[in-house]
Amino acid sequence: MITRPGADEETPLASAQALLRQTVDRLGLPDPVYETLKQPMRVLEIAIPVRMDDGRVQVFTGWRAQHSDLLGPTKGGVRFHPMVDLEEVKALSLWMTLKAAVLGLPFGGGKGGVVVDPSRLSDRELEELSRGYIRALLPMVGPRFDIPAPDVNTSARVMGWMLDEYGRMKGFTEPGFITGKPLILGGSLGRLEATGRGVAVTTRAALERFEIPIADAAVAIQGFGNVGSQAARFLSRFGARVVAVNDLGGGIHNPHGIDIDALFAHRIETGSVAGFPGCAPIDNETLLTLPVEVVVPAALENQVTRRIAERMRCKVVAEAANGPTTARGDAALHARGIHVVPDILCNAGGVTVSYFEWVQNNTGDYWSESKVNHRLDHKLTTAFDQVFAMREERRVHMREAAYMVAVGRLADAMAARGWFDPWDLLASAKATPATPVATRRT
Ligand code: NAD
Repeated sequence: MITRPGADEETPLASAQALLRQTVDRLGLPDPVYETLKQPMRVLEIAIPVRMDDGRVQVFTGWRAQHSDLLGPTKGGVRFHPMVDLEEVKALSLWMTLKAAVLGLPFGGGKGGVVVDPSRLSDRELEELSRGYIRALLPMVGPRFDIPAPDVNTSARVMGWMLDEYGRMKGFTEPGFITGKPLILGGSLGRLEATGRGVAVTTRAALERFEIPIADAAVAIQGFGNVGSQAARFLSRFGARVVAVNDLGGGIHNPHGIDIDALFAHRIETGSVAGFPGCAPIDNETLLTLPVEVVVPAALENQVTRRIAERMRCKVVAEAANGPTTARGDAALHARGIHVVPDILCNAGGVTVSYFEWVQNNTGDYWSESKVNHRLDHKLTTAFDQVFAMREERRVHMREAAYMVAVGRLADAMAARGWFDPWDLLASAKATPATPVATRRT
């Protein structure tokens, strides 16, 4: 089950808006910067009728939020989940804008969701739903408008159906319409692993900066889906020791380290990490509060609440999921001296390789896997260094620093578009609010 924040916790959207407000004030930016970014510029709610296998027609509710196109076309995943709602989609779209900005990608943020439990659908019903989602969105998507991608419970296969439906409606195929698609349809080498790889790369960078050796560093990972499993694989390749992992089926713990490749095989065979030989069972809360070097929440939002954070004993939280820490959880982590690699930096590997995929589709020049990985590592480490430099310069936490880098760039774009006088903007900031143009494309 997903955990929603307790009564004393803010929703992800409220937390993101509160931090945005703080960031705009801290940078001395004019109020319209906050007013523009606090909500999506456009939201569409849709109803998708699907003929079920038993002959009934079931109507599913979905959304697409296009948060901001200041830096380029909007971009972001589509989530199929029984508890997704409009507020969540709005928060996720805002984070996508910040994520693209912090990485210096020429994209804005978007996000989509459909209220459905896909495990209850047959393959045919899932395909109908995926195609119906794109049909309903047709007037507001496209490779230069809004570019969908996978998120929770939507895979490359779903992207393939969506691409096909878009092509049928348009009358021609357009691979740059969607990313995270199968290789044969123009997907990018390295995309599947990109988010987890990025989590490992940014975690390694953080450990280096905080002078914690990665060799044999103990790691606990919540969630073993696309992101969690790949993060586990790359962190163990970098020398860390993954000691605990869980998913919706249960958790496993082995203080000596878990063989991640064997765990992949076990999960394929059984559908869960639970019951992996040589490990003891572990519950979710115990996993999150283990005395390890790194905890990686890689499931959903609101997992690190204040109550959990006050009991955590790790040195670093690497936010592989979007919004896994509540605002109060975040405050408790800082009070306890636990470092955070914030989601908009930590899990940005996915959107970065989605950008590479879009570039390859638009140019017809397809890259080798090593070129993709090399460029990904470079982009992530450059962004990490920029955020870390902001942290040092302004004496703020990593999340605040990441927001400052991102919002500074978005304000630059507003100024360059003529919304404000850039000189007034710079003067009012009294410090350098934004990164100089030359450092944006890395
Ligand atoms: P996924 O559906 O492949 O995996 C989710 C995993 O979390 C599954 O193993 C599931 O069993 C587990 N899980 C769910 N609730 C849990 C709970 N309460 N306790 C323990 N385990 C739980 O999804 P994903 O694509 O890996 O995405 C995970 C997170 O990463 C989401 O927040 C998503 O928005 C974010 N993200 C994904 C990508 C991407 O490229 N897929 C990119 C950036 C961010």
